[in-house]
Amino acid sequence: MSGKVWLVGAGPGDPELLTLKAVRALGEADVVLIDDLVNPAVLEYSSPEARIIPVGKRGGCRSTPQAFIHRLMLRYARQGKCVVRLKGGDPCIFGRGGEEAEWLAERGIQVEIVNGITAGLAGATTCGIPLTLRGISRGVTLVTAHTQDDSSLNWKALAQSGTTLVIYMGVAKLGEIRECLLEAGMPAHMPVAMIENASLPQQRECRSTLEDMQESAAAFQLKSPAILVIGEVAATKQALPLAQSA
Ligand code: SAH
Repeated sequence: MSGKVWLVGAGPGDPELLTLKAVRALGEADVVLIDDLVNPAVLEYSSPEARIIPVGKRGGCRSTPQAFIHRLMLRYARQGKCVVRLKGGDPCIFGRGGEEAEWLAERGIQVEIVNGITAGLAGATTCGIPLTLRGISRGVTLVTAHTQDDSSLNWKALAQSGTTLVIYMGVAKLGEIRECLLEAGMPAHMPVAMIENASLPQQRECRSTLEDMQESAAAFQLKSPAILVIGEVAATKQALPLAQSA
């Protein structure tokens, strides 16, 4: 009898941002495969008998090959085990959740995806930025600055969309992002917020403008993981209820 794989979003770091469903899945898991952007504190909700396997994949660092992770999940599921694949943020926002679910389903494994709070949402909220705001921002666009094939984003469309941009994996590409958005016609004074380690005790935020963001980040020594929020709302600073409870 085949087991089941849960692809679970662990949220951005603060264990209180886990969903009840994530906590239930963790409690049921025989095996937990944990990504390195996941706060290990969430393992408090896994069973003491569960086997915990770190499978970090941070860009630039030594990482576990994706094919190996696939095979691990498959092997344990075929042994009838309940497997939780724990990912930072949401599994389907730049988290390969879609490909893993498809790969497992093709092999007859039962898969369930549990949403997590993605870093972009939590990062903005914890420093008082509403990503949409009536009369100011009619939407949000989540994009990654990092592509496998080096294909380029449609910066013109992004700059003209009138939505707040939330950029993941952008720390090493600040110069390029700045150039592309300026060239695409975004105003140089557009507010930018760069939020490092969102929702964790070591969270830091750096406010700037599109024009100055690269210099500001360098002076601030901004490090990954960080998200960039670009848009009028990034100038907002009032504390939102979630920020006060964090
Ligand atoms: N699935 C994750 C994203 C994984 S991609 C999610 O939904 O959040 C990795 C990128 O996410 C990092 O480069 C960074 O841009 C962002 N990120 C993840 N955790 C973060 C955190 N705690 N604070 C700020 N950015 C974070």
